Amino acid sequence: MRTTTLLAASAISVASAGRINRSDFRHEDIIYKDVAIIGGGASGAHAAVKLRQDFGKSVVIIEREPILGGHVDTYKDKTTGNIHDYGIALYFPYEDSFDFFSRPDINVMLSPWFPAEGNEIRYIDFTSGQELTSAFQPPDEAAGPVAIKKFHDLMTAKGWDNMTQPGYWGLPAGKDIPEDLLLPIGQFAKKHGIEAMLSTMYPSTGGGVGSRGNFEDILTLSIIKAFPTAWSKVFFGEVGMFKIDGGNQVLYDKISTLLGKDVLYNSQVVDSNRSNSGVELVIDSSRLDDDEGQLIKSGKGKSQSKGKGKPTKKLIIAKKLLLAIPLTRENLVPFDLTPSEKTHFSKPKYGRSHTAIAKHSKLPVGTQFRNLPLSATSNPLSPFLQTPFVLSFTSLATDSPLFSLGSSGTNYTDFPPSEAKKVTRKAIQKMVAAGILPNLEDEEVEFVAWSDHGPGGFGVSAQELREGWMEDMYALQGKRSTWFTGNGIAADFTTMLWKFNDVLLDKIVEGL
Ligand SMILES: Cc1cc2nc3c(=O)[nH]c(=O)nc-3n(C[C@H](O)[C@H](O)[C@H](O)COP(=O)(O)OP(=O)(O)OC[C@H]3O[C@@H](n4cnc5c(N)ncnc54)[C@H](O)[C@@H]3O)c2cc1C
Repeated sequence: MRTTTLLAASAISVASAGRINRSDFRHEDIIYKDVAIIGGGASGAHAAVKLRQDFGKSVVIIEREPILGGHVDTYKDKTTGNIHDYGIALYFPYEDSFDFFSRPDINVMLSPWFPAEGNEIRYIDFTSGQELTSAFQPPDEAAGPVAIKKFHDLMTAKGWDNMTQPGYWGLPAGKDIPEDLLLPIGQFAKKHGIEAMLSTMYPSTGGGVGSRGNFEDILTLSIIKAFPTAWSKVFFGEVGMFKIDGGNQVLYDKISTLLGKDVLYNSQVVDSNRSNSGVELVIDSSRLDDDEGQLIKSGKGKSQSKGKGKPTKKLIIAKKLLLAIPLTRENLVPFDLTPSEKTHFSKPKYGRSHTAIAKHSKLPVGTQFRNLPLSATSNPLSPFLQTPFVLSFTSLATDSPLFSLGSSGTNYTDFPPSEAKKVTRKAIQKMVAAGILPNLEDEEVEFVAWSDHGPGGFGVSAQELREGWMEDMYALQGKRSTWFTGNGIAADFTTMLWKFNDVLLDKIVEGL
């Protein structure tokens, strides 16, 4: 149902905490909205469009970067004209959430997505640069999907799918969470005789999607977030995969046009007051890009910006706040947390992942180098890497010297882009020294595009889940006019996050 919202200062009565003084702001720097959304990735951008178009609510997105899209990274190779999505690659249908692609003013064209073929696959230990010996047998291509189907059937039969997707509304209270979901994924697979699924889950989750630690030790519930039952269906052909024509950024550029001035870019909240009657947010729109925060993104205006902008502080007064950002301690500092909220959000510990496109005239095209330890065997439980690691180098086209790569580190704060680049360069040097790559003649590999995917993984331990962390997280929904969405607390796929939003938005607009 569409309703019209009358936007006027008088319509919003947010009690101001002493700390924020409204008279410090010029009249034109105070913005009144129904919902303020922090973060313009898949979750925040989708929520903004739906709140505006379906519920007639006024919104503002506060986005740290100069464009919308979050994990989407679209790179256009100027030489060949090829478009490479080196962050989010594909979308799969989940319930009715695919309708979002075709709604008015968005309407992007989708095409089927297929895995790249034609590259010769070589298994290399990137820490020594050596090729795995003939004693190593690559994972059995046929066994993976069979085991994934068994995983799917097990999840469904036990009702674990409904507990874990699209969000955790259905997850039992901490002490009642099924023991199996709190096992490390290696043990879970072994217990159910589906070890062969691991070699499919491993690359699909980027080696655990920036989770802390080594793949086989990662909590099953955490892996399921990045490999939910709905996603497993693509591996036995029950659902298809799609990409957006022209690159996945096209969607967010369209949303950006649609939302216009309702997005504040290069912006962050620096102070806030949250109460049951609404929120006040002080916004600084002069984000500083330090060396670790800088983006080297391509395409249509993704930031290459560095340095100071002109300080512009605004005050947003909104009835509701929707946090669509990673819920890290650092991100939450300006959000006026209560002591118990502080304790809650201090528990998760996140890993960090990066994706990039690298270029060097001597890198051999038509090859994918997959990183595995020299000790890897054909036992599906053995062949996993120790973080930090580069998962693979993949030649992007036979007519171009571009390679894509992804890396993961254990601690969010210890694995900034500079560290990830060091690990990447070292892997290349080792392969050169071992003769796998040709002599690069002192010419550095160039990173033509780099994307810091920030904190990843699930963050909380089995013990913390047992003690009710997730229950507490969901109990925070709506408290002090604040709501939470995004991949930190729901299945980590765009279309599933959109479905999660659909449930959440109905709750958010109640009483608005
Ligand atoms: C490398 C990689 C590949 C992936 N591939 C796929 C795929 O192919 N298909 C798929 O469906 N899913 C994929 N995913 C999963 C992806 O995480 C989700 O699909 C989805 O993009 C998550 O959306 P989000 O809105 O929760 O978070 P994000 O996309 O991370 O959005 C968060 C937004 O908040 C902004 N932000 C962060 N902190 C602040 C702050 N303090 N203030 C203001 N703004 C802030 C960020 O700049 C960002 O725009 C991939 C994830 C990764 C890491």
